[in-house]
Amino acid sequence: MNAYDGIRIASMLRGMGFAETPDVSDADIIILNTCAVREKASNKVFSELGRIRDIKKPDALFGIVGCVARESGADAFRRIPSLNFVLGPQSYHKLPEIIENPDAKLLNVDLSGLEKFDELPDMTDGPAAAYIPIQEGCDHCCTYCIVPYTRGRELSRPFDDVMRDVNAAAANGAIEICFLGQNVNGYKFSLANLIRETAKIESVRRIRFTSSYPTEMTDDLISLFGTEPKLLPFLNLPIQSGSPDVLTRMNRPYSLELYIDIVNKLKAVRPDIQISSDFIVGFPGETDSEFRDTMDIIRLVGYINSYSFKYSPRPHTAAALMKEQIPENIKKARLKTLDAALSEINREFNESCVGKTFECLIEGQDKTGKHLIARSPYMQQVVIPKPESDSGPMISVLITDANKCSLRGKIVRNPI
Ligand code: SAH
Repeated sequence: MNAYDGIRIASMLRGMGFAETPDVSDADIIILNTCAVREKASNKVFSELGRIRDIKKPDALFGIVGCVARESGADAFRRIPSLNFVLGPQSYHKLPEIIENPDAKLLNVDLSGLEKFDELPDMTDGPAAAYIPIQEGCDHCCTYCIVPYTRGRELSRPFDDVMRDVNAAAANGAIEICFLGQNVNGYKFSLANLIRETAKIESVRRIRFTSSYPTEMTDDLISLFGTEPKLLPFLNLPIQSGSPDVLTRMNRPYSLELYIDIVNKLKAVRPDIQISSDFIVGFPGETDSEFRDTMDIIRLVGYINSYSFKYSPRPHTAAALMKEQIPENIKKARLKTLDAALSEINREFNESCVGKTFECLIEGQDKTGKHLIARSPYMQQVVIPKPESDSGPMISVLITDANKCSLRGKIVRNPI
């Protein structure tokens, strides 16, 4: 969601005549787009703001947007008085107000729901892989998570509004559409129907969505993985923990049986599907044996490309008040153990890809300019020697080599 917000802000500013600069000290407007999900990222924001304050042009407009802005509100002005604006994740469409009136201070951390989607100017440019948000906020209230506080109650955007954005993204050159939401498969007007409608657009070649909640995985959506070839065979389905008791304390009321049943149904309709997850280790009260349950589930499901975090207590959340907070050294050790196992499974999966041919979407090139960087259907990074002639956005790649982080390959033919 943050990446999407950043893209929209950059596009809005380009439309107002601004151009990007890699040099902060050269910028006329500086916006720090922030995430509050974990404490470390949140803490870094204020030291980064201090650093920028010291090197920016004196009259540059300077502000903070996103979840840390929402979390700190007016306090951000107290901590960094030279800030010109503090805008929450649902109010950054107000940015033109401060550009028109640069001597004012602008504070808006309202949860204005879907307003920004109506107010933001249409995108006139776009990447080959486009994010389309279909939802704001989240109603799940996991006990560790600050998102319901920073992004508010869950709201689904109207179906027609989403399809208008999809069509605009396709007209701007999007080959891949990624539907976004905190609870994306809980989209009120049917994610499955959105995917069906999007798949009808000829120039769209790949469709995916993130991030899903296990109990919202309907049979209709599951069966679509078997019938819709444009839907990538890769799904992020966060389990968070393999211990039923930890899941209860997290207020994630699904059983492991239900979760595994979903994975089995997905594999039955799409045998080549791979699952990724988010994990939290060191949740309050997590015992060694509960942590081992998580280690067991990762071997059982065989997750690839997953995200793993040490539990981080956040303001406005129930888990931050739980007794039995786990000491940092134990959290660290558990994360290391988990990451080693996840890496090993990744390496095995990546190695199993050698000799296969994947349709990949080009993302850019490496620093040397000699290689293209592309994404496989499983979102693996694929490094390919750059061809002499322009290859178009999609390429067929024979995978020749693999390690735990990425693949190498060569173009075998050009499908577009
Ligand atoms: N609905 C989104 C949640 C966004 S946060 C999603 O499912 O991705 C992304 C991930 O950050 C979560 O899945 C969770 O694994 C992790 N996370 C959230 N709050 C956390 C906390 N307090 N400490 C550590 N990790 C956290």
